[in-house]
Amino acid sequence: MQIYADNAATTRPSRTALDAMIPLLEEGFGNPSSLYSIGQRAKEVLEDARARVAKAIGALPAEITFTSGGSEADTQALYTGAYLGAAKGKKHLISTKFEHHAVLHALAALEKEGFEVTLLDIPEDGVVTVESVEAALRPDTALVSVMYANNEIGTVQPIAAIGALCKEKGVLFHTDAVQAVGHVAIDVKAQDIDMLSMSGHKFHGPKGVGALYCRRGILPRNVIYGGAQERGRRPGTENVPAIAGMAAALEEAVAHLPENAAKVSAMRDRLIEGILRIPHSALNGDAEKRLPGNANFCFEGIESESLLLLLDDRGISASSGSACTSGSLDPSHVLMAIGRPHQVANGSLRLTLGEDITAEQVDYIAEAVAEIVERLRAMSPLWRDLQEGKCQYVIQ
Ligand SMILES: *Cc1c(COP(=O)(O)O)cnc(C)c1O
Repeated sequence: MQIYADNAATTRPSRTALDAMIPLLEEGFGNPSSLYSIGQRAKEVLEDARARVAKAIGALPAEITFTSGGSEADTQALYTGAYLGAAKGKKHLISTKFEHHAVLHALAALEKEGFEVTLLDIPEDGVVTVESVEAALRPDTALVSVMYANNEIGTVQPIAAIGALCKEKGVLFHTDAVQAVGHVAIDVKAQDIDMLSMSGHKFHGPKGVGALYCRRGILPRNVIYGGAQERGRRPGTENVPAIAGMAAALEEAVAHLPENAAKVSAMRDRLIEGILRIPHSALNGDAEKRLPGNANFCFEGIESESLLLLLDDRGISASSGSACTSGSLDPSHVLMAIGRPHQVANGSLRLTLGEDITAEQVDYIAEAVAEIVERLRAMSPLWRDLQEGKCQYVIQ
């Protein structure tokens, strides 16, 4: 059996996305800035995609800037918020310890440019509180950036409440919604979101394309220099096929969102129930305030890397946390932020389910994980020490 269970890393492009893209790659290759008809047709496709992406999150077409993906949208949002604040003498930025590195590293760069950054601690359940945001606000706070849903542990944040707070206090609010768009219902106006990042490949669109929503009146700050594309806000010849593919994928995801979310979260809960039968295992993050497809666990006495390789042998594609940190030996900053000690943070497993997941596949995964964990523990010196009482279990 082959099961792709790493949808938080990337998703398979949908048939709808491919059907939108292929004719544009083959025939509709014109440059939208060209005046002849093939260029103008590409321009129409581009503007149609903008309207569809805007509609999917309750925005206006003029509020959407296409980017090369989530990382660029995050970078642009943070630079926009920071420098709009700086123009008014506000140089304090608030974010959280468990953001994606696109946000954390952009903040680190802004710190070097003279901004002051407060990163909020994360409670054990992986859900940021509005009170913690409020407590960190200062008269010189320019921007609050809190991710919509965490990419490792899948916890969904109280975005509307944080949006309302920021609106009341006159502070800009950005959310990295890369994991949420297409998976949970979003309305940027109702939720008081000033800026939002999304990425095509996280909802069955292509890679290398994303969008930044900036509320009317917020002019995105350039992070790339060049021509007048995207009204000068994001120079570079538009990737029209990818943009059209992203718009088609997003429209489809939003059209089927309620039934997909219900189905996938039922499968997720079945998976969680199956895996938590393993002794000394725990779910990371709140069981309910989480993305429909995300299940993330820690196990005592094993290393994630061996678990992932043995799962791959059985046809299961999974990850230990973020795709961006695999290959590094540091434990996940997200698991550290929710207070998981090294001892168990190194034994984590993220399974992120797609809409086509079946109960049979879920049971196969749970069974494979249980068998492999048992096998690895039988060979683990740490597990032996735990069993002999030479060290203490973190997870009972
Ligand atoms: C994947 C991801 C990103 C980066 O998006 P890219 O399009 O791969 O650059 C940013 N933030 C979160 C939460 C993500 O999951």
